[in-house]
Amino acid sequence: MLPLGPGIELVNVRRGFGDTIALAGVDLLVEPGRRVGIVGPSGCGKSTLLSIVCGLDEPDIGHVDVHGRVDAAGRLAHCAWMPQQDLLLPWRSVLANARIPLENQGLSRPEASRQVWPLLARFGLAEFADHRPAALSGGMRQRVSFLRTLAAGKPVLLLDEPFGALDSITRADLQDWLRSTLTDEPRTVLLVTHDVEEALLLCDRVAVMSARPGRILETFDVAPAANITSGATRRARLADPNFVALRDAVLASLERARDPALAAATHDEPAWSNSAWSNSASDGSGARDGAAAPEPTR
Ligand code: ADP
Repeated sequence: MLPLGPGIELVNVRRGFGDTIALAGVDLLVEPGRRVGIVGPSGCGKSTLLSIVCGLDEPDIGHVDVHGRVDAAGRLAHCAWMPQQDLLLPWRSVLANARIPLENQGLSRPEASRQVWPLLARFGLAEFADHRPAALSGGMRQRVSFLRTLAAGKPVLLLDEPFGALDSITRADLQDWLRSTLTDEPRTVLLVTHDVEEALLLCDRVAVMSARPGRILETFDVAPAANITSGATRRARLADPNFVALRDAVLASLERARDPALAAATHDEPAWSNSAWSNSASDGSGARDGAAAPEPTR
């Protein structure tokens, strides 16, 4: 199993683009092997946050630590990014697409194919190894895309609306599949999504970001649950009263987050003063001990 290292830590991160302040006072801690979902209004800085975590961008102020590395190259070396569009190369077969990260690490094509083959088999893609992406369904293409992300062998996965372009049934299938895959192959995960149910089904914790300038407004711990293995278990999970209450609490938080007056009123306050995350992290309890509680923390 991949060593997961120290996880992700952001403290008081600010990022502006000219007059536009995208992020201000962002505090976030993701312990190794945990999955944190990020939800928030459009334009609140979610993609900027992912770019900063993986070292493609730098904050104006604040501290960013990924897997023990604060420099951009070090952060980049420990992150794999999966975007909404699968970005598969159309002229390459499934196998040849899947082995790209290993080729980029200097492995020969035969050696990269040898190493990636077990993943193809495990993901039910072996019989499509010679197919071009155009011959695959949208769900299968995203599976290849996720396989490629995983094959990079990085401890941190940044998933940016990975299923946003899929129909709802395929999306549900892939959510269940991703959840069980990450149970078997744990990674430290940041998942950006517009879909609160998706965040609650896939993550251990959901962080709600405020309208721009984005910061973590509230966080909600998700109680551990068994993998969803059928439509019936999925429906039972979605109908579970604790799940419904948590979903409603996150949706209410998201409504508050959309209020620009709230963002304007609070973003100048000192770091660690507002979010549930900061409350639990700053007193040394809760957020840092990795325990998942059934109730939302606010
Ligand atoms: P989200 O992913 O939540 O929709 P983004 O992180 O894409 O939000 O963008 C946050 C804000 O920062 C937006 O107002 C966007 O226009 C602005 N922004 C992001 N990147 C740049 C950039 N490179 N140059 C100028 N403005 C940017």
